[in-house]
Amino acid sequence: GTRRVLVTGCSSGIGLAVAVRLAKDETKRFKVATMRDLDKRGPLEKAAGDLLNKTLVIKKLDACCEESIKECINSIPNRQVDVLANIIKGEYCIVVVNNAGIGMIGPLECQSITSMKELFEVNFFGLVRLVKEVLPDMKQRQSGHIVVMSSVMGIQGLLFNDIYSASKFAVEGFCESVAVQAMKFNIKTTLVEPGPVMTEFERKVYEDAENIDLSETDEETARIFRDIYLPYSRKVFTTLGQTPEDVAEASSDNQTQKVITAKEPPLRHQTNRLYMPMTALKHADPTGRLPLEAFYKMVFKHDAVFNATLGILRMMNRRKGNK
Ligand code: NAD
Repeated sequence: GTRRVLVTGCSSGIGLAVAVRLAKDETKRFKVATMRDLDKRGPLEKAAGDLLNKTLVIKKLDACCEESIKECINSIPNRQVDVLANIIKGEYCIVVVNNAGIGMIGPLECQSITSMKELFEVNFFGLVRLVKEVLPDMKQRQSGHIVVMSSVMGIQGLLFNDIYSASKFAVEGFCESVAVQAMKFNIKTTLVEPGPVMTEFERKVYEDAENIDLSETDEETARIFRDIYLPYSRKVFTTLGQTPEDVAEASSDNQTQKVITAKEPPLRHQTNRLYMPMTALKHADPTGRLPLEAFYKMVFKHDAVFNATLGILRMMNRRKGNK
């Protein structure tokens, strides 16, 4: 069957990698990679090479603008009813990968409500706008798949990521709710939950962190952020981080492309198995004490605990990888 995949936020990172990966898919299904700013299409065009305008089309889509989303979806031929007529129910499928997102770290007191709202505009309302636009079509066709870049921080909050994590929890709550209705119309929903991924996202977040005005908070909080959290977080990225290609890569087991093409895709898919024990803590203890204490110890007790945890996780990973 025809399968059109629309991906948002493709000028860099995971979105770019997913778009290129899908464009290389041997079934040559039609892919639409979108980005807010077409002036930033260079890296994607380069990575797509001669697939450009064959299996990959680049279009403009700003997740913060309803008009822009409407225009983009309207420009796709399959919105038109005549195409629909030729399609056997269930065989036709449009997949929407909501990937556009921004990060934010730092003490709450140092962040403006305006910047928090901007983050929600992209990470949460960007998703809501897109789903609002495509869901009616999908329902009518009784076919479709909504794939959403969430995060492990959509399952488990982390200090100094209060607003980012809240936005991903919002994404998770929204998708869980929509998924039940969607199922009635044969529409699939998947939350992709990566751990740390080495992209522009990470670079931007740390760059912003350098410029945070820590005088807005007390000295102890500033110290914890600067001297404990930042080094800890950088270490997490370098030791546990995946590449965007890892996340997009089909050959490594069950990654985003597999999720996208799966017949029975899961509601949740964590891309980094190193994180599974951490997110499992949440389900293991309804009082919430277990994950709270584990994260507290990992950040505040001593490095030894953190390093030991890393060691065990890496070993588990290697064992699983060898199987
Ligand atoms: P990235 O910064 O490389 O990519 C995000 C993309 O979203 C950028 O291309 C950016 O231009 C785009 N974008 C921002 N605002 C937009 C808007 N209004 N309309 C359209 N596009 C917009 O970072 P990434 O790591 O590839 O992030 C992709 C997704 O993965 C995000 O949703 C992020 O929250 C999620 N994620 C990232 C990590 C990580 O550690 N990098 C971890 C878990 C989840």
